[in-house]
Formats: sequence, C-alpha cells, structure tokens
Amino acid sequence: MDFETLSADLRSLQDRALKEISAAADPEALEQLQIQYLGKKGELTGVLRGIGALPAEDRPRVGAVANVIGEAVKGALASRVSELHSVVQARRLAAEKVDVTMPGRPIARGTLHPIPETIEAIVSVFGQFGFVVYEGPEVENDLTNFQMLNIAPDHPARDLWDTLYVDIPGHLLRTHTSPGQIRVMETEKPPIRALLPGRCCRYEAVDASHGFEFFQVEGLMVDEGTSLADLKGLLDEFAHALFGPRKTRFRPGYYPFTEPSVAFDVECVVCGGIGCPACSKSGWMTILGAGMVHPVVLQYGGIDPEKYQGFAFGMGVERIANLRHSVPDLRYYLENDLRFLEQFR
Ligand SMILES: [Zn+2]
Repeated sequence: MDFETLSADLRSLQDRALKEISAAADPEALEQLQIQYLGKKGELTGVLRGIGALPAEDRPRVGAVANVIGEAVKGALASRVSELHSVVQARRLAAEKVDVTMPGRPIARGTLHPIPETIEAIVSVFGQFGFVVYEGPEVENDLTNFQMLNIAPDHPARDLWDTLYVDIPGHLLRTHTSPGQIRVMETEKPPIRALLPGRCCRYEAVDASHGFEFFQVEGLMVDEGTSLADLKGLLDEFAHALFGPRKTRFRPGYYPFTEPSVAFDVECVVCGGIGCPACSKSGWMTILGAGMVHPVVLQYGGIDPEKYQGFAFGMGVERIANLRHSVPDLRYYLENDLRFLEQFR
C-alpha cells in the first residue's frame, strides 16, 4: 500500500459517499449512510486503518486528506438532512392540507322540549295583547298560595289541591300559579297585564293525565272597566292562534278566587265537534279555567275593587301541549326518552 493508492481509494470513497448521500430518499437512509461511512466500523475508518502500513513521512498527508474527506461527507450529510426535512415537510403539508371548501360534518342540533316550546307559544299569543311575563317562587307560603286567594285554612276547596308541604313552617310547593296574581298585584299598579308561567306540584297519583309535577300559565288583567266579555274575546284569540278557527264557549265553573268562574271550551281538536272518544263524544274540550278576579282577592292584592276589575285565567301546559302535538300521555314529557323528544324537531 502506498500513499497514491490510499489517496485514490479515499477519493473514490468520497465520490461514492456523496453520490449516495444526495440520492438518499429519507432521514432513515441518511442515518444508515452515516454509519456506513463515518461509524466506528465505517468505510472511512477502515481505510484509515491502512495508514499504519505507510511510510512514516506519508502518514500526516494521508491523515490530512482523510480529514478533508470526512468533513466533506459530514457536510453533505448535514445539508441533505435539511433538504430532506423540507421535502418531508412539503410532502406532509400537501398530504394534510385542509380543504376549506369541503362541506362540514353536520352538527346534531337539539330542540326545545315541548313544554317550554308550548309555554313560548302561549306567551307569544298573549304578548301580542300587551301581557308581560312575571315569575313567582316555586316554594310559596300558605298565605299567598291559599288564604289571599280566598281559600281559608278550613275551606273545603282545599280538597282541590292536595298539597306538598316543605320543612319550613307555613310553606309549601305551590299547587298552582295563581299565587303569582297576588305577587304581581302587590308590586304593580293597574293597568296590569301579567302572565305567570311556572312549575307546580300536587300530591297526586301519577297517570296518563296527572303528574305530581306539572306546568301552568296564569294570566291576570286588572284595569278600570275590565269585563267578562274582554276575557272571552282574548281567550277566543288565543284558541284561534293555537288551534285554528273553531267554536269556543264558556261553561260555569268554580274557583274560590274568581267570581264568576268559567271553564273555557274549544271545539274538539280531534273530531272538530262531531263527537269522539277524545272529547267523550261531547264535541268540546276544556282547555283552561278562568273568571273575574274575586273582589276579596283584589283587596288582598292592595287594589280597590270599587275602582278596578280584573280577570284571571290559568291553563295546564301539558294539556295544551297534548292537544297541539297529539300526545296521549303526559308522563312522556318527564321521561327524557330521545325517541319521543326528537319528534319535536
Ligand atoms: Zn272529539
């Protein structure tokens, strides 16, 4: 082995290494090339082992050439690494490009539960006549829930409301939204046009048409010269808005806090008045109770019954929702069964 041969070997090794490095397709191939040429058992190292066989004066010259070649190979590796990096990145960017023109995945949309949806429908009809929504407490006191509505503690009418009492003496879960009438009269001066939607509770055996928890919407109007005819006209508009044009009627009813009291009927929404099982063959359906506010109740509310008259009405929201959507059993409203709820989309 002489200096010329060894130098020629080194140069051809360099040529081969640089060619292979520039042809390397990915970072893994480069790593292999680094090991192949510069590793402990690499080719350059192998060639340099032959230095020992050279005459002493040639050894530094070969060492210098080997260093230059080693640096050249390292440099080529480094620049190919950065080249490949940008190639790999460009390829990834192309592959993972977001196409903003693609239609998005559909988002599952919820819908209003039929009870609040029906409350909204009711509120929107009366809202057109200037009625404003108020809220009363769900835990009410006995005074407001009963006594100020003309229902004395020993009044037989209390049998109408099987009451759920709470641990606070004199308090209960309101059995109807009517105490809201008192609360509105206590804070507002006539003219009053109030709507009071809300949850009520009664101690009831639960069946298809009764729940211990249910919703009502109460309405109250107080002004000078308010009459039963005004009430009838308003309720007619309400019935037509929700159930379309159909006959309505008042029947005598009874509530301690209204005098006179009426039941408000509409022509059966199922048979149109001919008579069917849904209306017990009568052709009529009662949708709410109403009446002129009892003078005693106006007085309890701080309003002079000599000067002002008022009417009030109250309806079960489940009942209205049943009729609007032909739901046969009000227990569906509280069961959270998506198969039921998704029908109201
Ligand atoms: Zn009918």
